[in-house]
Amino acid sequence: MYTVNLRDSNEPFVVGKILCVGRNYAEHAKEMKADLPDFPVIFLKPPTAILPDGGSVVMPAISKDVHHEVELTVLIGQGGKNIPRETAYAHVAGYGVGLDMTLRDIQTDAKKKGLPWTLAKGFDTSAPVSEFIPATAVADPHALDIRLTVNGSLRQNSNTRHFIFRIDELISFISRTISLERGDVLFTGTPEGVAQVLSGDKLVGQLLAPDGALLTSLKVSVL
Ligand code: MG
Repeated sequence: MYTVNLRDSNEPFVVGKILCVGRNYAEHAKEMKADLPDFPVIFLKPPTAILPDGGSVVMPAISKDVHHEVELTVLIGQGGKNIPRETAYAHVAGYGVGLDMTLRDIQTDAKKKGLPWTLAKGFDTSAPVSEFIPATAVADPHALDIRLTVNGSLRQNSNTRHFIFRIDELISFISRTISLERGDVLFTGTPEGVAQVLSGDKLVGQLLAPDGALLTSLKVSVL
């Protein structure tokens, strides 16, 4: 069983699906030389991809180019199907910061051949996640600074106001086709600045409130 923690809650959430958004910041779409999407691109990671705060990312032997993608993560507290945008936030238990670790060479090859990204995105330890903070403690999830440092240098630095698709829209869009359940985790897409990680790297992801207060953070190393 793979679980994640919600601050101030003594019951861990058993992770079900990990749903990820492919492109949700215009600047990242540009650096990937990709068009802006008309609708969200959604892919899955298995629950076995979860890595808790403090863990180590294990790079699979099939790849020579593993990338970091820091992302706002959303923990689903209450499941549903056909969730309207107007009530979408009632399904959110909390927010966190996560890393959508990606085998870029394997993904690029799959894209060229029109094949699924499953191995490139779903390998063991490909989904490091912080402790989640309760949704009630976040006034506006689209006003948060999101940052990643690697070995102390700033690599990704953006704000969730730049989302192409907002959280309520994503929940509504996905739940029209795939039922959401308690314990599902949504990765909302990465800003620009993605790059390769190397063995021994120390990654620190941070989510900050508009006043600069640290909401939650994630530290992992690369084996
Ligand atoms: Mg991503």
